[in-house]
Amino acid sequence: LWAGVPEGPADPILGLTEAWRKDPSPAKINVGVGAYRDANGKAFVLPSVRKAEAIIAGKNLDKEYASIEGHADFRSAALKFALGKDLFKDVHAATVQSISGTGALRLGGEFLRRFHRKPEVALPDRTWPTHDKILNAAGVSTSSYRYYDASTISLNFKAMVEDLTQRAPGSAVLLHACAHNPTGIDPTQAQWEELAQVFKTQKLLPFFDMAYQGFASGDPSRDAFAVRHFVQQGLHPILTQSFAKNMGLYGERVGAFTVLCETAAEASAVLSQLKLIIRPMYSSPPINGARIATHILNTPELTAEWEGELKLMSGRIIEMRETLVKELKAAGSTKNWDFITKQIGMFCYSGMTAKHVQELREKHSIYMTSDGRISMVGLTHANVGALARAMHAVTKA
Ligand code: PMP
Repeated sequence: LWAGVPEGPADPILGLTEAWRKDPSPAKINVGVGAYRDANGKAFVLPSVRKAEAIIAGKNLDKEYASIEGHADFRSAALKFALGKDLFKDVHAATVQSISGTGALRLGGEFLRRFHRKPEVALPDRTWPTHDKILNAAGVSTSSYRYYDASTISLNFKAMVEDLTQRAPGSAVLLHACAHNPTGIDPTQAQWEELAQVFKTQKLLPFFDMAYQGFASGDPSRDAFAVRHFVQQGLHPILTQSFAKNMGLYGERVGAFTVLCETAAEASAVLSQLKLIIRPMYSSPPINGARIATHILNTPELTAEWEGELKLMSGRIIEMRETLVKELKAAGSTKNWDFITKQIGMFCYSGMTAKHVQELREKHSIYMTSDGRISMVGLTHANVGALARAMHAVTKA
């Protein structure tokens, strides 16, 4: 019956772990997939999450369906977390709970396809490789604007502004709110301010993907600067949020999708349409993770504890960046690796080519995506030296 179904290719990112698992080398290192590991390389459940889980379990809650739009307290807590409590009070928003960040992006695509004059989203050149797949699957076409400058391993801000200025009014433009994946290169606050002006003048629609709030710098307000500034400037972004990284709730699939609107009536109509999109897709979202996130966000002592954990996780990544640079020098590399400590978030965009990456894999059992992206959370004091020595071996002229 299905003899004609061809074998599909493995997911380029998730397939890496598969290959790493099969590698018999005891020295193998996985710096492919982006899920936080502690200082011993182990998966990490946040203590604040464990506490919230115990409290929720003690309440003997029922397992009834959530409503189509999701857990009501979660929806407002998530948006308040993104915007801060003052701005939150001033906006008209349609927020729904989503199946983590990916599901939020898909809802964004579905919404744009139905209601945007021109369902196309401009993506930064270098972006999370799933962005176009999610949007295309929703029937939205994608194009790109210049962002990354490979020759300097930094942001080409001038080219970015040039490209955005040429887009037609109303165009949707995707922005990584913080911790740009894969490059780890974000605009500065002054550049975000300039970008907000460009969006206003050109009447562009900002589509913020915020998958790392609090996880990037350890300070959720700082990481939300761009989103908050755009809203303060009177722009009405659409926003996707994920609690996978910042709460370590990966498999719980906790996220939110928001359309910021100009009036309460508009927000009500948009929410009604989002419900019509969700109902035939997955009916209603899962309840467990949303309960955990809501409990943490709405309980001040647990919020404070969680903020400490955000500092711990982001601090460990920053420390690993410094250690990697030191180890590269110790290994004898004379290249300038300073960009590694300038980048932020889970990933280090190393500037290594597909050939370097292949050599790392074949000769050193080190696994990373072919664009040279190193997931910093896969590094520990036990393996960072080996990675540095291998990087030097493959990059020395
Ligand atoms: N956007 C970006 C930029 C990401 O890096 C990720 C996770 N890799 C996501 C969205 C969505 O992740 P999730 O569906 O696990 O929340």
